[in-house]
Amino acid sequence: MPSGPALEVVDLVKAYGSRRAVDGLSMHVPAGSVVALLGPNGAGKTTTIEICEGFRRPDAGKVRVLGRDPVADATELRPRVGVMLQDGVGGYTGATTVELLRLFASYAADPHDPHLLLEVVGLTEAAGTAVKRLSGGQQQRLSLALALVGRPELVFLDEPTAGMDPQSRHGTWDLIRSLRADGVSVVLTTHLLDEAEQLADDVVVIDQGRVVAQGSPAELTRSGAEGQIRFRAIAGLPLDQLVDVLPLGSTALEPEPGRYLITGDVTPELLATLTAWCAHQQVLAQDLSVERRTLEDVFLELTGRELRT
Ligand code: ATP
Repeated sequence: MPSGPALEVVDLVKAYGSRRAVDGLSMHVPAGSVVALLGPNGAGKTTTIEICEGFRRPDAGKVRVLGRDPVADATELRPRVGVMLQDGVGGYTGATTVELLRLFASYAADPHDPHLLLEVVGLTEAAGTAVKRLSGGQQQRLSLALALVGRPELVFLDEPTAGMDPQSRHGTWDLIRSLRADGVSVVLTTHLLDEAEQLADDVVVIDQGRVVAQGSPAELTRSGAEGQIRFRAIAGLPLDQLVDVLPLGSTALEPEPGRYLITGDVTPELLATLTAWCAHQQVLAQDLSVERRTLEDVFLELTGRELRT
């Protein structure tokens, strides 16, 4: 087990022509944690992770993987790091599933049993199937198995559940949780909010090659406006009067006639003030719901854009 961080990235820069795909990105992955790089397509997640895997060289900045340089120390790192690429099995289409997994196991000093691992990723039935005949979701699961077969200390998973059906996705999430329970460090990229929220100890929100926010899902959704309240009532309530009695920083909108949205620091006091104001107006607030902010709301506030672009 490494004593230092699993991954350290400082001021990373990578340009393709005049475009900076990664633009001064820094992040830190404590050993044994799961960190998700979350961002829309083109944000720079794959470029960042491929530099950390030693497949691309940065233009500037520092990367340390298990305390080592991913390019200069590639030979030493190879058995300690598992890599799941976006198109991970594309080059091995002639072999069968189990043959490919055995091949990867043969490179490791203490590999997992290939058949057991196929069971874990739900590919037992497809063990004898040629890789090129696997569905997209099955290829993803094989790619995950290939990344894990050598018992790595750190794994990089690039969009691990892309193209998977919901059942496989949840199975993969369970597998990632069990990796963490075994002390394995995991760095994954995703543009799925629930994936980041479900799995990650820390989320690094990336947009246009930069980190725009970083923290646990709870920390990220707590900062700034805490939440929102929705309710239905008769149309045309005098919302300017409502805003006057709500805490500073709250907003009140009627996006559609008779439907109301209150945003701000949603405390019990704010809720009491709102319902008291409705009572004073002799209005019954119906279907009132207090909603938590999601990472999607956070992303929208930080960048002005939806996560899925
Ligand atoms: P996705 O979710 O689509 O994989 P991403 O966040 O992983 O997106 P990158 O693949 O790192 O983003 O791409 C970042 C930017 O760099 C994009 O604008 C992309 O078009 C560009 N890019 C990536 N690879 C290359 C390359 N080899 N040559 C030129 N431009 C590239």
